[in-house]
Amino acid sequence: MFEEPAAALRWAQGEDRPNAPMSHEFLNGRVEVCTGDITGLRVDAVVNAANASLLGGGGVDGAIHRRGGGEILRACRELRETSYPQGLPAGEVVLTTAGNLPARYVIHTVGPIWGRDQQAQTLLASCYKKSIALAANHSLGSVAFPAISTGAYGYPKDEAAAVASTAIMEALSQADAIERVSLVFFSDADRDVFLANQQF
Ligand code: ADP
Repeated sequence: MFEEPAAALRWAQGEDRPNAPMSHEFLNGRVEVCTGDITGLRVDAVVNAANASLLGGGGVDGAIHRRGGGEILRACRELRETSYPQGLPAGEVVLTTAGNLPARYVIHTVGPIWGRDQQAQTLLASCYKKSIALAANHSLGSVAFPAISTGAYGYPKDEAAAVASTAIMEALSQADAIERVSLVFFSDADRDVFLANQQF
C-alpha cells in the first residue's frame, strides 16, 4: 500500500489523510468544531441560517428544507401568518419542527447581510446568543450551528469566527442545560479559518 516506510508513518500519524477525524473542542468539551453537512446531525436542535421570509432559500437553508420536507415550510408559513407578517428580523430566532431531519427541532435565525445591515456584529452575536437561550428554554441539550452569514450574506469568515465564539461563550455561561454546541463547517478550509480566529 505504501511505497516507502516514511509514507506509512505519515499515514499512521494522520498527515496524509484529508478526512482524518480530528476533534477540536473548547470550553471543556461543551463546544466542538467539525466539518460536514449539518442536515445529517442527530442533535436536539439544528440552527438554520434563514432569510427574513422564513420560506426557504439557498445554502444551508435550502438544504434544511429539502431534507426536512414540507413540514418545516408549513410551520414557517404559520409563523409568518401569526407572529411575523413582515418577516423575521435579523438577529431574531424562532423554533419549528425538524420534519424529516434526524434532529428534533430547527431554530431559524436571520443573520446580518454584510455591507447592508448596520450593527452587523451585534446582530450576528444575537443570532448565536438567542439560539442558545431558546434551546435552553426548551430544555434542549445539544445544538448545531452552521457558520451564519458567511455564505450568501458575505460576512468575512475570520471576523465571524471571533464574533460567534465570543457570543457562544457568553451564552453558554448562562445556559447550564446546554451540554454540547457543534459548530459545523461545510469545508475543512472554512473550519480552519474558524480555528485560527476563534476566541474561546
Ligand atoms: P447566509 O445566507 O447566512 O450567509 P448560507 O447558507 O449562504 O447562509 O451560508 C452559511 C454557511 O453555511 C456557509 O459557510 C456555507 O458554506 C455553509 N453551508 C451551506 N450548506 C451547508 C450544510 N448543508 N451544512 C453545513 N454548512 C453549510
